[in-house]
Amino acid sequence: MTRQAALQEAARCYDSGEFIQQLSRQVAWRTASEAEDSAGVLAGFLEQEIRPALDALGFACRLVPNPVAGCGPYLLAERIEDAAGPTVLMYGHGDVIQGQDAAWQAGLSPWVLQVVGDRIYGRGTADNKGQLAVNLQALRAAIGARGGRLGFNLRFIVETAEERGSPGLNDFCRDHADALKADLFIASDGPRLNARTPTLFLGSRGIQNFELALDLRQGAHHSGNWGGLLRNPGTVLAAAIGRLVDGQGVIRTPLLRPDGIPESVRESVARLVVGGSPGDPDIDEAWGEPGLSPAERVFAWNTLEVLALECGNVKKPIGAIPPTARAVLQLRYVVGTDLAGIEARLQQYLADEGFPWVRVKATMHMAATRLDPDDPAVALAAASVARSTGRRPAILPNLGGTIPNDAFSEVLGLPTVWVPHSYPACSQHAPNEHLLGSVAREGLQIMAGLFWDLGEADAAVFAARA
Ligand SMILES: [Zn+2]
Repeated sequence: MTRQAALQEAARCYDSGEFIQQLSRQVAWRTASEAEDSAGVLAGFLEQEIRPALDALGFACRLVPNPVAGCGPYLLAERIEDAAGPTVLMYGHGDVIQGQDAAWQAGLSPWVLQVVGDRIYGRGTADNKGQLAVNLQALRAAIGARGGRLGFNLRFIVETAEERGSPGLNDFCRDHADALKADLFIASDGPRLNARTPTLFLGSRGIQNFELALDLRQGAHHSGNWGGLLRNPGTVLAAAIGRLVDGQGVIRTPLLRPDGIPESVRESVARLVVGGSPGDPDIDEAWGEPGLSPAERVFAWNTLEVLALECGNVKKPIGAIPPTARAVLQLRYVVGTDLAGIEARLQQYLADEGFPWVRVKATMHMAATRLDPDDPAVALAAASVARSTGRRPAILPNLGGTIPNDAFSEVLGLPTVWVPHSYPACSQHAPNEHLLGSVAREGLQIMAGLFWDLGEADAAVFAARA
């Protein structure tokens, strides 16, 4: 009954081929949740693949329908050792995006796991079946090493509509708050900072999309006869965008800027180096908010991107003033950005700046979340990872990208610590998706060590919450 035994058993799961075996079975389930007829396969995957694995670990499991019609069910599992003891909630998703079968490298298929060198190919190996398999096998190792105990209660939720944007997840968490009650949330999804750096992330940036539109009149008018007399929607749109974000990528309106960078966030970001891995694009140094490091720009600040622009016909321009223009903009934002009523406030801002003709429509929204890097749960997890790997993990206050973490951090009010087992070049959502065997093996040990340490931590970390 030692920590070392838990880590050894976790490594054995990988070295013996048990991990690959379990993941092969999972990958063979074609759980693409966007497919029309996916309901049966999604429920089957939970019922026949995940439930037996959790049953064997002593969990009580049940399938619960998604509150949104047509979206895949949830598996809820719990393993209570001491009703008065601390409880951890974990999460994973069993659905994947479509296979894109024809686009994979010759000899590879999304639905047949294949190991080539250090790469474990297959749809879902990185997102999220492989990470789920790491956590399930690490749990088994930790429970075995402690003689059948974990030292804490554990609840597990496995979702099957994540790739559709997790419809229903917030409502589901609200409706089942009792069944999901916990002191700490731990999950694995998304990438590490880079392949070689064990990473913790504590939330994610949010998304707010906007459409800007000008519909000035019916039809185009000759630019010689009417130029100088008619307002050009392309000119106005370009200038309006320029009032929101300048030519250096700096957000100009206070409405879309964060209220600053908290000291604990600044500190945790200071050690991070972004980009520089094979295949990464070169970072533009003189782009974005002046005075911020690249890591601060992507993890601690907002960015406003032009996703699409439309005016006239660039491929076949004619000598006329177009009647309409459109743009889609996307704000990626951090906690500390007040977006309440943003559509009306942005509309007013543009009107005040001299562009009353631009109609603003707020579209897709996902919340920004972030646990304070100074939270005791972060210190515990970071120390645990360092002890298991001999390396200090990178701590991202939030991902640059966006995950539905608000269901756990806001709806359930939990401190959220994510321990990713993938890496940025894993081809997630693309052909040739893969997990790195070396990272999976290390992930197994990281999680076994973390479960072990949580079992010892009676303790400060949980008590500090209560
Ligand atoms: Zn995904």
